[in-house]
Amino acid sequence: MSWRADILTIFPAMFPGPLGDSLAGKALADQKWRLNVTDIRDFGLGRHRSVDDTPFGGGAGMVMRADVVDAAIGAVAATGGKAEDDRPLIFLSPRGKPLTQARVRELAAGPGAILVCGRFEGIDQRVIEARQAEEISIGDYILSGGELAALVLLDAVIRLLPGVMGHAESGLEESFSAPLLEYPHYTRPAVWNGRAVPEMLTSGNHAAIAAWRLAQAERITQSRRPDLYNQYLDSVHAPDRFASGAHAP
Ligand code: SAH
Repeated sequence: MSWRADILTIFPAMFPGPLGDSLAGKALADQKWRLNVTDIRDFGLGRHRSVDDTPFGGGAGMVMRADVVDAAIGAVAATGGKAEDDRPLIFLSPRGKPLTQARVRELAAGPGAILVCGRFEGIDQRVIEARQAEEISIGDYILSGGELAALVLLDAVIRLLPGVMGHAESGLEESFSAPLLEYPHYTRPAVWNGRAVPEMLTSGNHAAIAAWRLAQAERITQSRRPDLYNQYLDSVHAPDRFASGAHAP
């Protein structure tokens, strides 16, 4: 059984979108993952198949109705056979936990995911709670809908699925696998517009190259992401720190 994505959206035409191309698109054609898109509007109310209403308590914008979204989720879970559907239900939301590579790896190791895309001001809180949806954010900014966030999450997961990435090892060494940003990359020509590649990389000394890359990764992480750099220091130095007590906080 391949990894199974269900998307709930009022813009089904946005899928697979960019995931129909390149690695993910080929993997989809090869059924290394499967995609099922549900139009929430099919569960809308009345002649206009309305999915939203004005917010209780007032304020600008509209809110997606709990009854409509719940009916759509129920239909998706039912097609999988509700009892066997152990896929996580995820609501893409700027209020969610930030998406991490660790969560991406967990999702890729599981059976799939059901992704609910919000629009307008978001979804009635009661359906999020009743369905115990996991809220995930792709960053501290506001998109106009959850569709692009769902595509981002799926892209990150799909490249980790077995047989999707050309070089299995290329997933292992990159940023966020270790808590360091990646070292810089260079390819031919060796001199470009007067800029030579770092001499070390043409030395053929693999141990020295590995050490140089680690030093570069540390330098870049320290300057750009002090938060990650501190995590890295903890993970590298924690054992002897606790042994010697020399750097006790
Ligand atoms: N009023 C909300 C924003 C709604 S944006 C607020 O201020 O928090 C509309 C929809 O876009 C959301 O329901 C969500 O599904 C999606 N969305 C917006 N930004 C997102 C982000 N950073 N990560 C994931 N989903 C996001």
